[in-house]
Amino acid sequence: MQVLEAQNLRKSYREKGKEITAVRDVSLRLDGGEVLAFLGPNGAGKTTTIKMIAGLILPDKGHVTIAGRNPHRDNRALRGLGAVLEGNRNLYWRLTAAENLEYFGVLRGLSRRVAQQRGMQLLERFGLMEKRKTVVQALSRGMQQKLAIAVSLIHDPQLLLLDEPTLGLDVEATQHVKSLVREIAAEGRAILLTTHQLDIAEELSDRVAIIQRGEIIAEEPTSELIRQFAGTAYRIELDAEIDEQRQSKLDALGIVVSDRTVIVRDSSLLYSVMAILNPLPLVSVEKDQATLTDVFLKLVQR
Ligand code: ATP
Repeated sequence: MQVLEAQNLRKSYREKGKEITAVRDVSLRLDGGEVLAFLGPNGAGKTTTIKMIAGLILPDKGHVTIAGRNPHRDNRALRGLGAVLEGNRNLYWRLTAAENLEYFGVLRGLSRRVAQQRGMQLLERFGLMEKRKTVVQALSRGMQQKLAIAVSLIHDPQLLLLDEPTLGLDVEATQHVKSLVREIAAEGRAILLTTHQLDIAEELSDRVAIIQRGEIIAEEPTSELIRQFAGTAYRIELDAEIDEQRQSKLDALGIVVSDRTVIVRDSSLLYSVMAILNPLPLVSVEKDQATLTDVFLKLVQR
């Protein structure tokens, strides 16, 4: 089911008499159960787009629907939306974990009783039960982030906007937040993930949309995008020095050797190279893999 549709969004700001077009033309769509990584260099227009989707700023052009409702015309659209934007600003630091869940639940239209009940379920699920009576400012950064995500889910939204969900978290908290994101998507919710941590985006997203200067320059399934940018070279690591005789045979094929590493750029030569190296002990033979970081850099530097 289509949960989010953003069509031809445009937004300009006026600053000191000059017009800055932050978002020129952005269209995004997201189905339930899908994680879309929305990536772009600083100033590309991500935050402006997210704010238009969240109903916080009005687009100059284009429109947004969340589960079929327009957040700029119909307040009920916001019931379908949960957001964790810019760190922990969506929590009250002097309230306890349980009080935050109850407060935001009521604010989102739940009865107090339902908000409390759902709050307890979320605390249990997010491993925060023991901290339910602790004020937010006394929680660790990782716990605050998990609580922020729990709060964003209190009213059972279909769309979740997640901005830098693992920034500043230690390894364990990062792993926990990543598995929560996967679980939340597996429940059928749509997740729009913005982050500069491209390894996290690569691990969590089904699709990637890259924005640059206010326009989408690439949008594809994550694995497909990475595959297109993967190289054809092979890297062979040896556990022995290469003798002169082998070295000269490799030179004749134009193969690059650096210490105990052999790079075969023309994959049709792989078996000839392996025959020359035989029977030297191997550590690994790997095909050059692209990462989302490589893809991102190539695209935005074009
Ligand atoms: P970052 O990754 O640095 O957070 P971003 O992709 O979220 O960047 P935006 O914050 O949407 O980018 O900004 C896009 C452009 O619009 C930038 O040039 C920014 O300076 C400008 N801009 C954003 N908000 C305003 C505003 N309120 N008034 C004037 N210009 C703005």
